[in-house]
Parts: sequence; structure tokens; C-alpha cells
Amino acid sequence: MLLLGCVADDFTGATDLANALVAGGLPTELRLGVPDRPAEPSAAPRAVVLALKSRTAPVAEAVRDSVAAARWLIAGGTARLYFKVCSTFDSTARGNIGQVADALYALQAQREAVLVCPAFPTNGRTVYRGHLFVGDLLLSDSPMRHHPLTPMTDASLVRVMASQTAEKVGLIALPVVREGAAAVRHAAAALGAAGTRYAVADAVTDADLLALARAALDAPLVVAGSGIGALLPAAYREAALLGAAQAGAAAASAPPALGARAAVIAGSCSAATQTQVAQFAPQATVVRVDPLAFPDANGLLHATLHQVDAGLRDAKPLLVVSTVEPDVLAAVQSQLGRDTAAARVEHTLAAVARHLVDAGVRKLVVAGGETSGAVVGALGVDTLDVGPQIAPGVPWTFARGGTPLALALKSGNFGQEDFFARALAMLS
Ligand code: ADP
Repeated sequence: MLLLGCVADDFTGATDLANALVAGGLPTELRLGVPDRPAEPSAAPRAVVLALKSRTAPVAEAVRDSVAAARWLIAGGTARLYFKVCSTFDSTARGNIGQVADALYALQAQREAVLVCPAFPTNGRTVYRGHLFVGDLLLSDSPMRHHPLTPMTDASLVRVMASQTAEKVGLIALPVVREGAAAVRHAAAALGAAGTRYAVADAVTDADLLALARAALDAPLVVAGSGIGALLPAAYREAALLGAAQAGAAAASAPPALGARAAVIAGSCSAATQTQVAQFAPQATVVRVDPLAFPDANGLLHATLHQVDAGLRDAKPLLVVSTVEPDVLAAVQSQLGRDTAAARVEHTLAAVARHLVDAGVRKLVVAGGETSGAVVGALGVDTLDVGPQIAPGVPWTFARGGTPLALALKSGNFGQEDFFARALAMLS
């Protein structure tokens, strides 16, 4: 019984959502890309999350992949689609959240306006009057304004969403959300009847998210961060869609035998990752990836792999890092172009990951959503089991089948300051 089918627009978002669903008590399978075989039937209620690398892809490619993922999930028996986006609503100037949502809506039309809410209060992401806050700052004042690929310079989610779709976008504000699920459903129905396709919904606390989860219980389509997902299993239990036996966390998977070798790959330039890199560097053998130091991609790749080989002779864990501060990033991007710089770094870090695993590294922490997509693509892993949580939104995951491998895929801005050491200590 496929209770919920999720399409995640990046890999760290997918592990975040799978972690939330498992923690809520809904057994969840996490697949990377669109599987080439149909879903296996199962009698027990469960969710499937399909991880895509579609957030910054060209619009047509993002739409194509998302529709393929949604079709696979619908063919697997789900009536509920969940389009997982970033808790900071990361999107490029061209899209893709609105266009992908439109394409998914074409498969899963509904009379009510589709709820749109990236809130994740545990990690400081809240939505008030349609404006997204990161901690105490508006999104547009937060470090997200400096993101290498998806700089977020407008905190109004209604405006951002409206810029990515020809459909109308409305708001369900906090006072309505605080009235509860029935009021939210009523407001979504009224907006839908008036021809508004999407409703950005406010949420400041988990209680607000629970109201949204209850309202979205049977919605054919929801556009959200992992916050609503964390509360959906509770809403399913209330509606007797999920047995009481599934109360509490579904069993997180135990790690396989992994050996001692560990490495961290940091390709995120987010503020939290910068702090984490600075904290961890003294305990690690550091290899820096600087796309300006070499005239071409091959030069960068070979020099990096050479340093990685030298580093592997060290007992300390390796930290392979391209993280730079906003002013350095701006210089790199102006010299190489934003996309070329990102592609070179991603290509190098992905090859490093492959090399590390070939050399026997079995515990790999990756910081960055795009970076994780590139790394996991190079590793050829197709299914992950969700293991213990390291930080809100970030679990250890274990590759299913093939070489035993533990992966912690961390969204750039998530995790404690000592995240890397903490993650590695959990598995030793
Ligand atoms: P986050 O989770 O913080 O959004 P991502 O991995 O999704 O991190 O995005 C970071 C992007 O920035 C990647 O495409 C990465 O290749 C790129 N990047 C990382 N370091 C550099 C650098 N030194 N110069 C240019 N681009 C970089």
C-alpha cells in the first residue's frame, strides 16, 4: 500500500524527507533517480521518496524527470504526491518549483488550491504572511542571498512562486492555519473555486504544520519542505490510514560492517558548512579544491586526486573541500562563469568520491545538495536505507546491495557546528 509518493528536487532533501517520515513512524524507501522496474507491491502502508537532481537543472529537464518520477509513483499505487522542495525554497531565476508543480498538477489535478509550504521550524525555517524566515532573518537578508546557484533575494513566497508559474498564487495566513485543518481546507477550496491554483500556507510552529498535514491528508498534490512530511504519519494515524503499531519511529536501519576509513566531502558554500569545515579541519587531512588554480577541468581533477592519494596514507579522516566565502565565490564565478565553476567542482568532487570508495572508504559525509547529487550519481547507488539521525533533517543512510557504504548527505545549511566529527563518531 503506497500511502505517499514523494518527488524530491535534490538528494539531501530526499534524505531529509525520508528521515522525517521514518521518524514519524511511516516505513519509507529512498530511491535515487527513477527506478527502471515498477514498484514492488506491499501490503503494509509505506512511502517511497524518489531523489532527483532537478533543482537547478534546465526547466525542461526538471519537468521531464519529475513527471517520470511521479508517473512511476502513481503506477505504484499512490493517490498522494508530495513534491519536496528546499526549506529555503531554493530555485533559480528560471524556476523550477512552479513549472514542476504545474506539470505534477497536470497528473494530479484537484479542486482545492495546492498547499505550498517549505516551513521547518526545528531548523529555523518559518513562514509568516507568506514570507519565509531563516531564524530571525527574512530569507532575502539571510546568507541564502549568496548561494552559488540559487541566490534567494525575495522572501515573499507568493511572489517567488508566481514568478515561476502562469497560474494564480494565493495565501493562507497564520490566523486561518491556527483555526485548524478544516479552516485550511475551507480556505484552499475557496481559493481553488476562485481560480487560484496554489496557496502558500503560513506555519511558525510544528502545531501549525500538523494543521497543514491534517488538511493535506488526502491531497493529490502538496508542495512542501520536509516539515509537513514529519507530521503526516501522525495525521495518517489519526485517520486510521496507518496502524497504531506504527506509532513512534519506524525502525531506523542498523549500519553494516564499515571499517575505519572515513572522509568528508564539502561542496556547499552555505554559512553552516563554512563553520563546520573550520571546526573539523584541525582534526582532518585537508584537500582544497580551487577551480581557479588550474586552467581546465582535467588539471583540477588530476591534482585533486593526487592530493587525495597522499591524504589516504594519513590516519586522519580526509576533508575534501571546495567551500569558500561569498567574496571568493564571486571572484571564481566572474572568472569562470557560475555554471562552469559549479560543474568543475561537482565533477571533481564526484570523481573524488568514486576514488575514495574504490580505495576502501566506507563512511562518507557529503555537504551540499547539488554536491550530494553529483557524488551519489558517481557512486552508482540506487537505494538507501535510512539510519540514525545525526542532526534534524540529516540521517545516516546505508546503500542497499553491493559494497557496504554509509552516506550522510547534508543540506548545506543544516547540522551542528561539530556535525562532521559527530557524524563520524556515531559509526565508529
Ligand atoms: P547547498 O546544499 O549549500 O545548497 P550545493 O552543493 O547544493 O550546496 O551547492 C553548492 C554549489 O556551489 C555546487 O554546485 C558547487 O559545485 C558549487 N561550488 C562549491 N564550491 C565552489 C567554488 N569554490 N567555486 C565555485 N562554485 C563552487
